[in-house]
Amino acid sequence: MTAAERARREGVGEGMHSRGGALRGQPEHVLVIGAGLGGLRTVEQLRASGYEGRISLVGEELHPPYDRPPLSKQLLAGAWEPERIVLREPEKLDELGVRYYLGVPAVALRPGEVELSDGSTLHADAIVIATGVVARRLPGQPERVHTLRTLDDALALRAALEQARSLLVIGGGFIGAEVASTAKDRGLEVTVLEALAVPFSRALGDEVGAMCGRLATEAGITLRTAARLEGFLEPDGDGAVAVELADGTRFSADVAIVGVGGTPQLDWLADTGLDVRNGLVCDASGRVRGLPGVWAVGDVAAWENVEHGRPHRSEHWANAGDQAAVVAAAIAVADAPPPAVPYFWSDQFGLKIQLIGRPELADATLPLHGDGLSGGDVKGTVVGYLAGDRLVAVAGFGAARRVARYRALLGNGADRTAAQEFARSLG
Ligand SMILES: Cc1cc2nc3c(=O)[nH]c(=O)nc-3n(C[C@H](O)[C@H](O)[C@H](O)COP(=O)(O)OP(=O)(O)OC[C@H]3O[C@@H](n4cnc5c(N)ncnc54)[C@H](O)[C@@H]3O)c2cc1C
Repeated sequence: MTAAERARREGVGEGMHSRGGALRGQPEHVLVIGAGLGGLRTVEQLRASGYEGRISLVGEELHPPYDRPPLSKQLLAGAWEPERIVLREPEKLDELGVRYYLGVPAVALRPGEVELSDGSTLHADAIVIATGVVARRLPGQPERVHTLRTLDDALALRAALEQARSLLVIGGGFIGAEVASTAKDRGLEVTVLEALAVPFSRALGDEVGAMCGRLATEAGITLRTAARLEGFLEPDGDGAVAVELADGTRFSADVAIVGVGGTPQLDWLADTGLDVRNGLVCDASGRVRGLPGVWAVGDVAAWENVEHGRPHRSEHWANAGDQAAVVAAAIAVADAPPPAVPYFWSDQFGLKIQLIGRPELADATLPLHGDGLSGGDVKGTVVGYLAGDRLVAVAGFGAARRVARYRALLGNGADRTAAQEFARSLG
């Protein structure tokens, strides 16, 4: 039996407990709760930072750590199978000297210890929480209406799409738009219901959001904006799922998915007395406020940040790795990594959408390349975001090489003129 099979069956890895004692100043045992991207990157970065003590990794799911972005893309499309998205097989965790516990969620946190669902207790002198978010469900949402957060969710949705001719997507954010795009490529008729007047306006602003909406409709999606959902209806024979909007319009389809964001996975911290409704509030190095010896990374963590002036939570892939590197260095008493420029991407309707920086700080946009903002081809469009005169973010649509060139400019705090000159120099 392989280590992977053993871990899946027993939920407990057989890896080495440690590579020797912890170095002076380092904790003896680091316990990482959440075996997703942030948890895995934390253990990898601990070893990369020279941490020599014991590491344990606890995960709610039986699967070894896997990558979520392909769940709405290649895996949903049927192009990839689950093996392809595994980030590290249990054997490789063994090589890192990590003891892992899969399929046994943490159920309670007390000072210096965590209780698992099987009744066991793990003691540690540093605890890192990386438990991500759960997909939010809507009131009255029937069981058969899908959400998408885990590998099991993606496989269930994929199986449903294989039998379906039509899909209703409730919530036109990044996951909703990616599922719509993948389903359209599979030949389904797709309707997206978005509550905002302009899709993506909160994440990307009105102008760029409107361009994203156009990208969807030009690809053949039926997009209904300002769509306030009244509730789910009994299907009327026209499809398996039906909904009604506040204005009385009804939509039905063979399959439906709700993509309305995520809620931090923190019920298990109820006894700590912390207000965790919008994640774990941390200082700028990831130390959880009010819980000594506890750090948090990834989707669940609201780090304080000078740019925002308040705790800020980011549900993006690169953020989990960036924060893991900072926390691991702090725990290993190693040099902190240089500050990272925020980054995320989304693949929709044949284009890679990329965003570097902090568009949420901006009050204006600045066209840099292409004419997507003025109604032209979206592909090749690159847009700057300005806070006053300062360039704070750059978004690109099918323009990966150009977008990458702006990273250094953003790191240097360039202004409008510098951004325009740079755009001209790129041609
Ligand atoms: C479908 C989909 C597509 C995405 N696409 C993109 C993309 O294109 N670009 C991008 O930038 N980002 C994308 N993301 C976001 C990105 O995947 C996340 O930001 C990233 O996974 C966050 O890592 P994390 O470790 O915080 O959370 P996760 O990866 O969710 O890991 C958290 C883990 O903790 C476990 N857990 C929860 N509670 C407990 C408990 N009590 N005890 C133990 N374990 C627990 C969970 O089961 C989970 O395995 C996508 C996300 C999804 C769902």
